[in-house]
Amino acid sequence: MASQTGAIVQESLHALLEDSSFLPELQNKTREQAFASLAAILSTPNKVHKAFLRISLENGKVVRIPAYRVQHNNALGPYKGGIRFHELVNEEEVINLASLMTLKNALHDVPFGGGKGGVVVNPREMSEKEINLICQKYVHYFSDILGPDKDIPAPDMGSGDREMDWMMAEYKSIRPGEPYRGSFTGKSVINGGSLGRREATGKGVYFTLRYMLHDFLKEQHTFLSNTENQFAKTALSFKDKPMTIAVQGFGNVGSVAALEAHRCSMLQNKVVSVSDRNVMLYHEEGLDVPALISFTASNRGDLPTTIEQLASAGIKAEIHERDSILDVDVDVLVLAALEDQIHKGNMKDIKAKIIVEGANAPVSGEADQYLSEQGVIIIPDILANAGGVIVSYFEWLQGRETQFYSEDEVFKLLVEKMKATMDTILPQYFGDPFPLRQNCYIHSVMKLCTVLYRQGKLY
Ligand code: GLU
Repeated sequence: MASQTGAIVQESLHALLEDSSFLPELQNKTREQAFASLAAILSTPNKVHKAFLRISLENGKVVRIPAYRVQHNNALGPYKGGIRFHELVNEEEVINLASLMTLKNALHDVPFGGGKGGVVVNPREMSEKEINLICQKYVHYFSDILGPDKDIPAPDMGSGDREMDWMMAEYKSIRPGEPYRGSFTGKSVINGGSLGRREATGKGVYFTLRYMLHDFLKEQHTFLSNTENQFAKTALSFKDKPMTIAVQGFGNVGSVAALEAHRCSMLQNKVVSVSDRNVMLYHEEGLDVPALISFTASNRGDLPTTIEQLASAGIKAEIHERDSILDVDVDVLVLAALEDQIHKGNMKDIKAKIIVEGANAPVSGEADQYLSEQGVIIIPDILANAGGVIVSYFEWLQGRETQFYSEDEVFKLLVEKMKATMDTILPQYFGDPFPLRQNCYIHSVMKLCTVLYRQGKLY
């Protein structure tokens, strides 16, 4: 487990150890030992699988591409997590991301464990045929460890429904006669995917922000006004005030979260800035997010980078250097790109009072601590970006029942699940001095601890 996740898990364990009301069945003498077992379980993955995918490229060259599947923990159910296609994927990163999945699923009561996959490749440099071969080879090497009740991959950065369709097709042909519909999630709808899965993460990101800073704030106004908690003070400063929002990353998560904010006319929030791998765009009056989405759809996913492109698409915006999105003067910064975007080197420049982690681990441990001390509300990845895996769970259920829900039903179930988690976590968060991440981790670790204890694994 990478340092930040590991450190917070350790802190959460200590907090639980000091709370004698937690799991009183743990006799005092075995308590320390039980927690030591738990720390060992959570800090190391159950299994790390690695393969080299031999691929014949279209130019005649043969390459061997490193690929991983990490199975972190399956106490709560089959391993579950996406497969990342990125040239910087490495073993330590995949292990850390798998451990986040264990905590994320535990937090939201999704009956899955945590896993993650990775392929060391830049998909933008590969032809469609080459990506298809990579998907087939990945399943070829890992088919024994995958399956609807063993380990269920899904899309992650650099992969999407196309890859999941190809992988499931390969799985089905390798294991004829076996159940296959729940073997991969995030598939296209025609191929057994769930309506709403593609938008689920981005929608969940915006819902988390809206619920916390509007619905919950309104309902719990008296409680929040009566606490001395610094995060409650930050939240209250936004009561009935439209917020300005910047979104880093304009892929599947960032663009949908921006669109949700843009469409949510009730709150009159404004998306004033967005960025991608090339550029940052800014417009004080609020950007035309639907027009930006249509532009990217016909420009290989990239935002406009020139005045001419903006003019021809009828979009008003200033063009700035990509990373200037991080210190733009806004109320809310949504991080929906890569990990480690806010770190020791730039944490003091951040002006946003609310940070939402649409990506996994975009704020480093040091930056998290520093910003939290300043009263900045950081809505952590395992809380904010769980929409994807939650709807993956609905997809898995629909595949098993071969009965499919409408898009409205999917979003209703998604919102109910995220709301239930927040209703448990938020009163605790606004009542104590710990950052939200730690509150979430404590909740997940408590659940894992109780389950592992009942399974007789804490000796
Ligand atoms: N890759 C997504 C995540 O990090 C979704 C995983 C899934 O649906 O299994 O949460």
